[in-house]
Amino acid sequence: MRIVIVGGVAAGMSAATRAKRQNPDAEVVVYERGGYISYGACGLPYVIGGEVENFEQLIARTPERMRGEGIHVRLGHDVTGVDSKAQTITVCENGGATRTEPYDRLLIATGVSPIRPDWARTDAAGVHVLRDIPDGQAIEASLKGAKRGIIVGGGYIGLELAEALHSRGLSVVLLERSPSVAGRILDPEYQQRVQGELEANDIDVRCGVTVEALTAKNGRVTGVQTDQGLLRGDVVMVAVGVRPNVGLAKSAGVKLGKTGAIRVDKHQQTNVPHIYAAGDNTESIQRVTRRHVHVPLGLTANRMGRVAGVNMAGGEAQFPGIVGSGIFKVFNLGVARTGLTQNEADALGLSAVSVDVTSTDHAGYYPDAAPIHVRLTSERGTGRLLGAQILGHPSSVKRIDVIAALLHSRGKVHDLAEVDLSYAPPFSSVWDVLLVAAGKASQAARLPKDDTSA
Ligand code: FAD
Repeated sequence: MRIVIVGGVAAGMSAATRAKRQNPDAEVVVYERGGYISYGACGLPYVIGGEVENFEQLIARTPERMRGEGIHVRLGHDVTGVDSKAQTITVCENGGATRTEPYDRLLIATGVSPIRPDWARTDAAGVHVLRDIPDGQAIEASLKGAKRGIIVGGGYIGLELAEALHSRGLSVVLLERSPSVAGRILDPEYQQRVQGELEANDIDVRCGVTVEALTAKNGRVTGVQTDQGLLRGDVVMVAVGVRPNVGLAKSAGVKLGKTGAIRVDKHQQTNVPHIYAAGDNTESIQRVTRRHVHVPLGLTANRMGRVAGVNMAGGEAQFPGIVGSGIFKVFNLGVARTGLTQNEADALGLSAVSVDVTSTDHAGYYPDAAPIHVRLTSERGTGRLLGAQILGHPSSVKRIDVIAALLHSRGKVHDLAEVDLSYAPPFSSVWDVLLVAAGKASQAARLPKDDTSA
């Protein structure tokens, strides 16, 4: 049994280790076109910001260690084609000769690529995207002597980069085309709070601004031309979204879903026999809506990889789907969400109602109590939980996971109201803000649509 894996980060390496554990006799080979495997891309902004000392600390496993576990890793190997009938792949080694290699099972774990808009001068020095360790190293080198940074894009990577450049002493302008930052993550009221936190920390946030081109002198970026004028900057970070890397899958006849990512079944198997897909390039089922979605995040990639690894090696495992949880921090504000926002529920035509509760994250009399804002969204009439958003001190917003667990099992606000949550003054109030929100949501879910008294 020869198991071939394309891509050596979260999904690929999880699959490799699981496959080997499932079937120690299988030959497991990982082809990675870059120079690193098995690292936490999620930590890149924190190396740039200086909280984590260096990029090497993000690496969980090296090729040598994998060899010790009986897994062969081929760095600098770009897989350029798949012949699904012959069950072979074409591999190009370090830009040189190509060769074909056989497989019995193939995993496509090729991730996503940052979108690089078609602006003039994106090739200038000082213009960056952030996806992998070499991108991080290039940003690090660019920051030497830089005084002013421009971030294009107000999604979570743009926001984390804004904080990172600020920590490095740069003055930072953040440009966002839509009316607010975190637009695809939170409802508008909560987006405003995130923007407020950025502004309170001297980030110059400009929303409703469209970038038209970059400007450069002697091959080095000098600024950004927008529909509202020219902005000067020494470094420009482009964080305007990602696209799944599906070229290889398409060439093998693998079907994509409507999201543009790879469609798989519960076993991570594609429509082509013996070909699996996992990670950021692959769709998931959103358990709240039972729809296919493309949400490229770390735990999903690792879990999909495990499932694919077990199945490719002859075992049985199923991917349970996701509920759409995400968390990040901007300066002193933790931001967490799970399920659907009110806006997302409305767009899907669901009859949803949201309640908001603001409280303190622990007993008000205990030192350092900080505000916490919870929005709970549920289905009108049934009280089924649809989602939640939480903003507060970074140490307090992980309580979103209580809601994620209930969403996973299609729980109701009534279930949340009855959960025996832990309590002591340094951690929460006796009636935690989640329980207060659940009580309020139970009432709101019972009210007719035009009654806003909740
Ligand atoms: P990738 O990590 O993209 O790996 C795919 C690999 O495939 C790449 O190394 C690529 O070189 C290789 N490859 C592609 N095509 C080929 C080919 N043809 N031949 C050979 N090799 C190929 N997620 C969270 O959940 N929380 C966070 O806080 C978070 N923060 C993030 C911050 C940043 C800056 C970034 C960039 C990502 C963050 N993520 C976060 C997302 C998380 O890192 C990804 O979900 C995860 O890395 C996906 O793993 P993957 O294996 O699917 O894909």
